[in-house]
Amino acid sequence: MKAPSIHLRFSPAVLPETAGNLRAQVRALLEETCAAGVWLPDGLSWWGRNPALSRALGDAGLIGMTWPSEYGGSERSYLERYVVTEELLAAGAPTAFHWFADRQIGPSILRYGAEEQKRRFLPPIARGELSFAVGMSEPDSGSDLASIRTRAERSDGGWRLNGSKIWTSYAHVAEYCVALVRTAPKSDKRHAGMSQVIIDLKHSNGITVRPIIDLPGRHDFNEVFFEDTFVPDDCLLGRPGDGWAQVTSELAWERSGPERFLTNFHLLRALVDALRESASPAAQREVGRLVSRLRALRAASVSVAAALEAGETPNVESALVKDLGTNFQQEVPEAVRRIVADEGIRDEALLDLLRQVVLAAPSYTIQGGATEILRGIVARGLRLR
Ligand SMILES: Cc1cc2nc3c(=O)[nH]c(=O)nc-3n(C[C@H](O)[C@H](O)[C@H](O)COP(=O)(O)OP(=O)(O)OC[C@H]3O[C@@H](n4cnc5c(N)ncnc54)[C@H](O)[C@@H]3O)c2cc1C
Repeated sequence: MKAPSIHLRFSPAVLPETAGNLRAQVRALLEETCAAGVWLPDGLSWWGRNPALSRALGDAGLIGMTWPSEYGGSERSYLERYVVTEELLAAGAPTAFHWFADRQIGPSILRYGAEEQKRRFLPPIARGELSFAVGMSEPDSGSDLASIRTRAERSDGGWRLNGSKIWTSYAHVAEYCVALVRTAPKSDKRHAGMSQVIIDLKHSNGITVRPIIDLPGRHDFNEVFFEDTFVPDDCLLGRPGDGWAQVTSELAWERSGPERFLTNFHLLRALVDALRESASPAAQREVGRLVSRLRALRAASVSVAAALEAGETPNVESALVKDLGTNFQQEVPEAVRRIVADEGIRDEALLDLLRQVVLAAPSYTIQGGATEILRGIVARGLRLR
């Protein structure tokens, strides 16, 4: 049997010289705003939502960092943005208010949007004033996104939407949602006939948002129903029919970022703090194992970020980072739980953080591409399928 040819590449990458200053800037801002009571570390890290913190980050030029200055950006590199993201995650800072717009919607508007859309949406996103939700999943379309059924039909001056979305994070509070919808009937070309629309959640007719309470008992998700909801022509993002190419082009960015292995770093750090006075050799070994895996994951993730910055499309590498990273993140609370029990740790703040992370952990391997789907991508990349 012919051996499969291997197509994975993780070239070592170095963060830019400006990384040190940026880290210091973010740490100082987080310390200052935390001390002023603007935010508290959130057990769910970037899933927490705090508009005041997002505005402070926007004021400091730390949102939309890679975008042109004419649209409110700071014209920094993706690797510089990477450093800022790492610091926010390491602190457990609640950043969901701006996260989706900063990570994927803003870049999509920049790439595919009309000039008027760039001027209208990007500057307030970069100031940390405008929040977006992502409307992709539907009740019967998650992994198989191409099977979405929400449709948009031509109407005078725009489109009429009918259908529903599910798991739409923060749709109950965000100002806008960018949704993938069907603008042409299904055909034998599975990925044709879909488009992206920008929906004004606060002022549109025919929208019902219903809460879904998650395992930690929080209301972050929603079901969103559209009934003859009108979306004007100037809110179509990109060209009709290009929706699939548009949503999939950002996936490598979404999958390989530090949020795939640093979401509960603050739990690991709290454990290390609790073990500072005394730790058994077994606990030291276990923490050492976790930290060394973390370092390897980080090196792989930085390598993917550098490849993306260089204009490459490391989709397979990024799927692998997401799979390994999110599985690691699920092992962290388990390891912390074992160590806390074995070492008899009674630190209430640590235990409370652990409770929240244990309840949030199952979601890591579902959001942004479920494990089996990612492994399918890696297997195809390795020519094993
Ligand atoms: C915390 C969180 C936040 C989210 N936020 C949003 C959001 O803001 N907007 C949004 O649009 N969506 C959001 N989602 C939804 C998320 O994108 C979907 O849950 C995800 O894509 C999986 O889809 P599904 O839930 O329909 O599961 P399914 O696709 O039904 O998958 C169920 C299981 O079957 C497996 N499976 C499916 N197909 C195959 C296959 N072909 N081969 C092998 N195994 C397969 C999957 O791997 C999975 O284990 C969020 C999810 C979570 C957990």
